[in-house]
Amino acid sequence: MAEVLKHHKARKRFGQNFLNDDFWINKIAEAVDPKEGQKIIEIGPGQAALTKELIAGAKHIYCVEIDRDLAAWLRTKFTPEQLTVLEADALKFDWRDFAAEEKIRVVGNLPYNISSPLLFKLSEISDRVVDQHFMLQKEVVDRMVAAPGSKAYGRLSVMLQRKYRMVKLFDVPPEAFTPAPKVMSSVVRMIPIQNPAEVDEETFHQVVAASFAMRRKTLKNNLAKWISPEMMEEAGIKPEQRAESVPLENFIRLARLVHAAGI
Ligand code: SAM
Repeated sequence: MAEVLKHHKARKRFGQNFLNDDFWINKIAEAVDPKEGQKIIEIGPGQAALTKELIAGAKHIYCVEIDRDLAAWLRTKFTPEQLTVLEADALKFDWRDFAAEEKIRVVGNLPYNISSPLLFKLSEISDRVVDQHFMLQKEVVDRMVAAPGSKAYGRLSVMLQRKYRMVKLFDVPPEAFTPAPKVMSSVVRMIPIQNPAEVDEETFHQVVAASFAMRRKTLKNNLAKWISPEMMEEAGIKPEQRAESVPLENFIRLARLVHAAGI
């Protein structure tokens, strides 16, 4: 069993479920395979279950932790040569600045309540990232890696698959955490695609969001007020299709046409 910080009551508002099982801690650390000289940052180190393993491999890492008490404790547990503690909200953190000089590796057993906004925020700097290893709610990982035609395929799949190659590595049961979450978790590896297909980000985001607004409706219905059936056909999409059966490439083509038409 991993060391559990005494007197620290897990804070629900910060999504605190601490890993307590060495088997899973080691399995995640092995998947990350941290090495000296790499710029590694852990989001939400908590009670350092994973942190200590990452430091064992890399000698020094950075972390961003929102909980003031945990940040203070981490500073007593590790030396500055081992761990640079950045006490901050990962959602407000200046990631581009942090990764400006050297590409970064990002690791985290993420607080599940903020995982989607965090994934979107990090996707803005995917050009500055070597890789990301995250533990997330299993259902979220299933959506990230889902293929068109499957039930889990949606906005998260399309938005992230344009930027990353993603592989689900393994599931982790609730008993591996204290307190145990109600859901299964999964670990995912995300490797940024070097030259993601170019498209106006804002338009792409809007097209994808609108297409999946009502999952059971056809694209013709979801996009009726905005995009003509002819333009959908031009993008290789049948207006009677539902968004869940449209591959990424066709969403990109549609967003390009919409952007070029200035609508
Ligand atoms: N990594 C630890 C582990 O595996 O046991 C803790 C994981 S716990 C699920 C999530 C951690 O993220 C907690 O330490 C929590 O305080 C921290 N956290 C929550 N929201 C955060 C935010 N917005 N920015 C940075 N850290 C956050």
